[in-house]
Amino acid sequence: MLFQAIGPEGQERLLRAGAVLVGCGAIGAAAANLLVRSGLGRLRILDRDFVEASNLQRQTLFDELDAAEALPKAVAAERKLKAINSEVRVEGIVADLNPRNAEELLSGFPLILDGTDNFETRFLVNDFAVRSGTPWIYAAAVASYGVTLTILPGQSACLACLLDSAQGIGLEETCDTIGVLAPIVNLIASLEVAEALKLLSGRPAALHGRLLSCDVWSGRFQSLLPARNPECRVCAHRDFAYLGGRAQPHVTMCGRDSVQIHEHHRSLDLKALQNRLAATIPDVRQNDFLLRFRIPPYEMTVFGDGRAILKGTKDPSVARSLYAKYIGA
Ligand SMILES: [Zn+2]
Repeated sequence: MLFQAIGPEGQERLLRAGAVLVGCGAIGAAAANLLVRSGLGRLRILDRDFVEASNLQRQTLFDELDAAEALPKAVAAERKLKAINSEVRVEGIVADLNPRNAEELLSGFPLILDGTDNFETRFLVNDFAVRSGTPWIYAAAVASYGVTLTILPGQSACLACLLDSAQGIGLEETCDTIGVLAPIVNLIASLEVAEALKLLSGRPAALHGRLLSCDVWSGRFQSLLPARNPECRVCAHRDFAYLGGRAQPHVTMCGRDSVQIHEHHRSLDLKALQNRLAATIPDVRQNDFLLRFRIPPYEMTVFGDGRAILKGTKDPSVARSLYAKYIGA
């Protein structure tokens, strides 16, 4: 309230505003922390993954206990954020954003924030945002480098103006393969949330509109004004291929040496599944949200919505056959 550009009236608006955060890994966790402390009214967090010890170097909302319990990130984040500011309506949803649930999970918020680790999801968010006219903020970091851009549909360039598709843009390089330094994560999340605060406090004229990129190792910072592409697939031709599901694979790479299977949509009785698996597999662990077991050299984590993450392979056919064998076709 003391900061003149926001003031008491801007803070009031912030209190009535909300945002949906897609992905709560490194950037997502840092952004959620800043947003909740700023006193926005409502924050929905979508995440498909669970906390692991190797996340703790950069994912600042989580701790060793969350990793030991293998809590879903959406659940661990909700708990932590409610302890930070109990007046914010924080809602953690364990889900993999996809073309079938995008409408339901993203609708009703004036702003979407990028906390994802992959371009498939970003292009899906971009499709939804442009179609519905919802502002969204792109943010990404890998190694010591990061980039962010606020996208105002119909006014600014969209993600598809800058990049044609998720194919062929160096998807091999992710945090899981070449690592990421925590400082760049926090820097990019800070830039993202600063833009979010302008929008949510009703100060859109303060948005800088620039594609910012920074490298905390080399000290290189760049700021440029991206032009709209008059032939853009999404914001010019309104071809929402990702939202239509035409570009969505049923098995996705999910970090180092692991594959996510999300072609099965059903609700699983995790307790019953545990009882069945425990007959043949020695160490089946379960909490309210997921079930995990080892079939050396693999480790499978199954969620209540039928999704599974298989560690120990990059081969979708191996993942599919193990899923069919242990969970069901
Ligand atoms: Zn565009």
